[in-house]
Amino acid sequence: MSDAELRKLVREKLSSGLLPRDAARQVLARYGKGETCDVCGRPTPSSGVVYEMRLFHGMEARSGLMDLACFDAWQQERRIAQAASRG
Ligand SMILES: [Zn+2]
Repeated sequence: MSDAELRKLVREKLSSGLLPRDAARQVLARYGKGETCDVCGRPTPSSGVVYEMRLFHGMEARSGLMDLACFDAWQQERRIAQAASRG
């Protein structure tokens, strides 16, 4: 997946509510264990860093998992979406 494709996927998930626009309250960086990345759906590599997040949707807390490339794309697209909604 190219960077442009990844950013497009993140934008789609942000607009459909599958990814939060708010920053994560807690982020834990660790090595992957082969779990599925919340953004791209690929298994996380045991040789690479993944970010595990505590996210808050209303009252409900849930955790999210992203590999490094997806985390970067989410951070960037999230800021763009927030800036746009502020007008
Ligand atoms: Zn990913």
